[in-house]
Amino acid sequence: MITILNDNFSQLNEFLHENTFSKIFILVDENTHEYCLPILLGNMETDLGFEILEIEAGEEMKNIQTANQLWEILTEMQADRKALVINLGGGVITDMGGFVASTYKRGIQFINIPTTLLSMCDASIGGKTGIDLMHFKNMVGTFTFPEQIFIYPKFLETLPFKELRSGFAEMLKHGLIADKTHWENLIHINKLDTETIIPHIQASMNIKQNVVEQDFHEKNIRKTLNFAHTIGHAIESLCLSQGNPILHGEAVAAGMICEAHLSYLEGLLSEEDAKVIIENVQKYYPYLDISDFKDEDIFALLLNDKKNVDSKINFSLLSGIGISVFDHQSNQKNIIETLSFYRK
Ligand code: NAD
Ligand code: ZN
Repeated sequence: MITILNDNFSQLNEFLHENTFSKIFILVDENTHEYCLPILLGNMETDLGFEILEIEAGEEMKNIQTANQLWEILTEMQADRKALVINLGGGVITDMGGFVASTYKRGIQFINIPTTLLSMCDASIGGKTGIDLMHFKNMVGTFTFPEQIFIYPKFLETLPFKELRSGFAEMLKHGLIADKTHWENLIHINKLDTETIIPHIQASMNIKQNVVEQDFHEKNIRKTLNFAHTIGHAIESLCLSQGNPILHGEAVAAGMICEAHLSYLEGLLSEEDAKVIIENVQKYYPYLDISDFKDEDIFALLLNDKKNVDSKINFSLLSGIGISVFDHQSNQKNIIETLSFYRK
């Protein structure tokens, strides 16, 4: 269940009173420790003891070494099966904390309190937890729902603009795959900032939650959430391997441009709709220079995508603004043409 928190966090306090937890472990990174933890602790009312678990900020921390450290700390602190983990942070914290909690002693309870736009609208919802392995993202993980998700939009007030814009890309994607009105509301925002974005968070959360409820294990409709992510993830991985990491939402923005064009080349989307999408995404996101990336390197990554079956590249594309298709196998020539279209 997703709850938007009041300023006094009363719903969180009710949840803590109604359940019989033995102890609380709050997972933060250095930034959410500084900016969000004081707000949580200032409002949290509980007689239970709690411990703060802090990791360094950043995707590089989302690995098995960090998970191992956290499992060891939980063991040393004698966390039992009735312990509760509170994940207070962005997608790295909710993915990592969810993974650690869902595997420790075969699973203890956890809740997510997302603090980035991306985690509020996307990462904290849907029950996917996980860590990266080698340079592959989210290779090891579980499908486990948090007990609850509590959203406090005012946490966004301290979030850097680039991070806000990164989360906004997933919101645009939600509109494109499922809700034309949401997309239109978003592209009519003049200036991206916390105040203008907050009123649209709920609509984005609802789209994600609705899709997940219909298909938790990603057998069909959940795949539509992967629109923009096939080429997007390949660009994200190549930027990372060249020592120029970009934010996930920046890669998704490039992925939306490429996969809208690909949808058009594949005869699914009208030229006019593709143009509207591309022009609007370009308004917000800088062009990523992928001129040094070779087609074969991009293809190698596309072929390794988790969505593929039988070595065929499976795309989730658009057949209209607000209408998506999944399991679409695109023609190789159109993929190459799409990459050269983006490079221009
Ligand atoms: P993140 O967790 O790294 O947070 C981004 C940065 O913002 C970090 O430096 C963090 O310390 C800082 N920060 C967080 N909240 C803040 C606040 N309120 N004020 C100031 N700074 C703050 O990144 P993210 O963009 O939230 O999430 C990306 C991760 O989410 C990736 O690992 C991605 O794979 C994952 N993800 C998971 C799912 C899923 O379904 N499980 C979906 C999408 C993304
Ligand atoms: Zn994403």
